Amino acid sequence: MKNWAVRGLSRRRMTTAFPRGEPESVAPWSTIPVKVREGTVLCPADAIHDNSVIAEKCISCGRCSDAFAPGGNVRTVLVRRADGVFRKSFNIFIIDTGSCGACNLEVKALTNPIYDMHRLGIFFTSTPRHADALLVVGVMSENMKEPLKKAYEAMPYPKLVFAVGACAVSGGILGKSIEETLNADVIVPGCPPSPFTILDALLKSREG
Ligand code: SF4
Ligand code: SF4
Repeated sequence: MKNWAVRGLSRRRMTTAFPRGEPESVAPWSTIPVKVREGTVLCPADAIHDNSVIAEKCISCGRCSDAFAPGGNVRTVLVRRADGVFRKSFNIFIIDTGSCGACNLEVKALTNPIYDMHRLGIFFTSTPRHADALLVVGVMSENMKEPLKKAYEAMPYPKLVFAVGACAVSGGILGKSIEETLNADVIVPGCPPSPFTILDALLKSREG
């Protein structure tokens, strides 16, 4: 295979051609018809039960937006365990066990001037050995089970585990949740969750 520079120079571009044909109107995995207030939708995440949306499973595809207008609710986090010792500073380590990349971007946005998590004493750390909280994004892929366990074991006590995004919380539409490998102390729904939702979860988990 020619290297990147030779291919780029010979074609004069390195972008991929736009796909031909009409896009599929219904994704192939959407096989569950659900009755909603005004008709039926195919919920790809099986997230509609008893005529309401389960936030932990919803991937915000928008198909039921006429009935439920799901998403955008920043107050949906579930804190199973909080720990007051992190009030003054809180170091978080993010690990991607199989994400599409969007949850990572929303977590990263916490450092920008709009959310500015540093003013609240929350910092990223590049090693689990210095981390108070492990933020897991993405489905639980086989090859990341061992690194996830190792990262958790390397953290000092006390420590918290966050499942961030529908993939980590419920497996989304693609895989399994992280719960079979690690018990999450904090559940952050959304696909992806907004930075305000993640910030809300971080702040609530610090309360004793
Ligand atoms: S927006 Fe959420 S609940 Fe509604 S159809 Fe899509 S995945 Fe299902
Ligand atoms: S929850 Fe949604 S945004 Fe986050 S990794 Fe999964 S598919 Fe991507």
